[in-house]
Amino acid sequence: MPIPLTIVMYHYVRPLEASRYPRLKAMDLERFRGQLDYIQRHYQVVSMEQVIAASRGERDVLPAHPLLLTFDDGYRDHHDHVLPLLSQRSMQGSFFPPACAVLERRVLDVNKIQFILASVEDPGVLVDCIFSAMDEARAHYGLEPNHVYFSRLSSDSRYDDPPTTFVKRALQRELPEDFRQQLTEGLFSQYVTSDEKAFAEELYMSEGQLRHLLEAGMFIGSHGDQHYWLNSLDHAHQVKEVDRGLRFLEALGAYRDDWVMCYPYGGYDDSLLSILRARGCALGLTTEVALADLTVNDPLTLPRIDTNDLPTDVEAPTPMGFEGRGRERLSAAGSKETS
Ligand SMILES: [Zn+2]
Repeated sequence: MPIPLTIVMYHYVRPLEASRYPRLKAMDLERFRGQLDYIQRHYQVVSMEQVIAASRGERDVLPAHPLLLTFDDGYRDHHDHVLPLLSQRSMQGSFFPPACAVLERRVLDVNKIQFILASVEDPGVLVDCIFSAMDEARAHYGLEPNHVYFSRLSSDSRYDDPPTTFVKRALQRELPEDFRQQLTEGLFSQYVTSDEKAFAEELYMSEGQLRHLLEAGMFIGSHGDQHYWLNSLDHAHQVKEVDRGLRFLEALGAYRDDWVMCYPYGGYDDSLLSILRARGCALGLTTEVALADLTVNDPLTLPRIDTNDLPTDVEAPTPMGFEGRGRERLSAAGSKETS
């Protein structure tokens, strides 16, 4: 008997129109409310503790049509907008803040890139900036011609147009590391703000706010320390990331016997999984887009669906895969391409 489970992944949830960055790819608060209505009609929201028990073979702990709500990256949105709505409905959410964003008040590169993109009307402007920086740095880094990068990096995105896709991939991982970091810094201070610390204060939850989540019965798991692609690190560096993430949970009072890892960018490998097993990690959440089945999936590599894969209108039709067939792939077709 399959044990199907829908795990939904959220990032930003905010009243978009009223916010300073209405172009940010975020789930609008009203649409989120509509999505919770839809979820309440078709699913039963379960807690992380129930999912952990079910993954260990306690089949009766999950109701029919179970759904787990997960929120990545520790945004203040989650405290200010998500927590009140979940509390009203007696739903548990699971939250995964990277330690460095909370403790060091540094803006993650991935977030810098999102806000750079949200600050310009035409992403082509950013492509031009990156191209001219590449022209200057070409000899030093031995870069290929600009058009080669553009055609390689701009295609096949589930959500974004080609210029946006290029900017994200070039700055996130394709250009040489120190070069893309400098480039991201420069664009962030040019288009967003030069006061990174103040921006981080506004963007991420504080330790106090995370404690509010715990007091309200929410679950907090690990998203590592520096929000690295963990599968790109060597074993020793992976150990450091995992242990720093755990110390952070411990200091918050969120570390219990069972803990859960959510992989930044969905990146993991065998070496990382062995570290997690040695530390008694109960579940691991990836970004593979599928419905989970606890009888089929390795508990350390559970797939999730994106919020954009679920309707935001309570009257929308019953979800696909709902009959409990379990781990079938969702296609991007029909989803709102807004993440
Ligand atoms: Zn993340």
